[in-house]
Amino acid sequence: MNTERIMSQLEKKHPGELEYLQAVREVLESIEDIYNQNPQFEAANIVERLIEPDRILTFKIPWVDDNGKVNVNLGYRVQFNQAIGPYKGGLRFHPSVNLSILKFLGFEQIFKNSLTTLPMGGAKGGSDFDPKGKSNNEVMRFCQAFMLELWKVIGPETDVPAGDIGVGGREIGFLFGMYKRLTQTHVGVLTGKGTNWGGSLVRPEATGFGNVYFAKEMLKTRNLDFNGKTVAVSGFGNVAWGAIIKVNQLGGKVVTISGPDGYIYDPDGISGDKVEYLLELRASNQDIVKPYSYKFTNAQFFEGKRPWEVKCDVALPCATQNELDKQDALNLMKNGCICVSEGANMPSTPEAIEIFLEHKILFAPGKAANAGGVATSGLEMSQNSMKLTWSANEVDTKLHDIMCNIHQACVKYGKDSEGTVNYVKGANIAGFLKVANAMLDQGVL
Ligand code: NDP
Repeated sequence: MNTERIMSQLEKKHPGELEYLQAVREVLESIEDIYNQNPQFEAANIVERLIEPDRILTFKIPWVDDNGKVNVNLGYRVQFNQAIGPYKGGLRFHPSVNLSILKFLGFEQIFKNSLTTLPMGGAKGGSDFDPKGKSNNEVMRFCQAFMLELWKVIGPETDVPAGDIGVGGREIGFLFGMYKRLTQTHVGVLTGKGTNWGGSLVRPEATGFGNVYFAKEMLKTRNLDFNGKTVAVSGFGNVAWGAIIKVNQLGGKVVTISGPDGYIYDPDGISGDKVEYLLELRASNQDIVKPYSYKFTNAQFFEGKRPWEVKCDVALPCATQNELDKQDALNLMKNGCICVSEGANMPSTPEAIEIFLEHKILFAPGKAANAGGVATSGLEMSQNSMKLTWSANEVDTKLHDIMCNIHQACVKYGKDSEGTVNYVKGANIAGFLKVANAMLDQGVL
């Protein structure tokens, strides 16, 4: 494989799709050696078949707001690869959504889903619709209009979307309701559903829990644990919330959360009632970061800044892509951070990752560390197929086992001769091999 040649062709075909090109380059660079040691991959041109999605659906979404104004948004579903199972990946509603971001997320999802050991292919979708500031009825009408197109290409054995940024339990409910109406079926076509109509217990907190389980396994390799550790978290969405709960349960202290406008530093730790208060703010669709500092006066708000300048042992970036750059990575290293585990997708820039690898800290890429969310979605699909419901404890135990297995797979393929584990390499190789071998088995398609 000639990575530079492939990348230059891809750049010509998809100019300006920076996130997508960044994600493909990272994977190709990690798998180059193993790819070249297995000539059957090159003979079947696996890489060039893998880096382009199977298909992309683009559609317009006209919908009427509360003032009677007709709005038009764009919707997408990128079905990337289904070698090991039905397409699976979240829907994102955010004004920044474009094809480059969804292709990067869909591409990453292939390897992440492969790592979970469950039978799921890779996909992603969403819209440039911004749920922020919209009424409940507006969100409902938008979700219904979105599903009016999406239902044609999804199904429980074909493509099973889930939530992502801007798509939580409420949106999944509205989307599911419309799918059910259109198809007259009540099937497991979406995950993240309400628990009294097919959802799995522990799914809402699974990504954050899984991220902390993964970090716990990494710390264990150096005979360390979360007890007494200071932890910096970014964001305060679905992923950050689960991570904060689990860190507290394991005896760590979370000192930051963030939003697009800045971050909170709370030296007393963010736990218990404080987390409940944040959830209330979130449910009422308000800004959540600033009001926290008015209510808890020991906490400080740092406008326009990111939490990576705070002294911490462990950093969990849980907000969005490219939210931790080279300078942030240098700050973390200067302040003695020993572990960075990505809750978000691709939150660290390539330059930041280089710094982590140079310093040989414990660094886990999102595709391994945040795979607990989709893994639990996979468990939700299993429960839907069996028409059974597992207890929270059963799901959590399975999630924990899956995260430990992903960690082991990363160690297997990422450990060098000196015993240092490169989790980026390990995750990419482990995820790639399973998909590539399935593609070989199934012929040229
Ligand atoms: P949410 O929308 O629930 O939360 C995102 C959080 O990040 C919000 O608190 C948001 O603040 C904040 N945020 C957004 N942009 C910025 C920014 N530029 N700087 C700082 N904070 C910001 O999304 P999720 O928690 O679901 O997803 C977060 C990340 O995790 C994404 O990368 C997603 O792809 C990834 N992920 C999510 C999974 C899931 O199960 N939900 C599974 C695997 C990965 P505000 O609300 O004020 O905008």
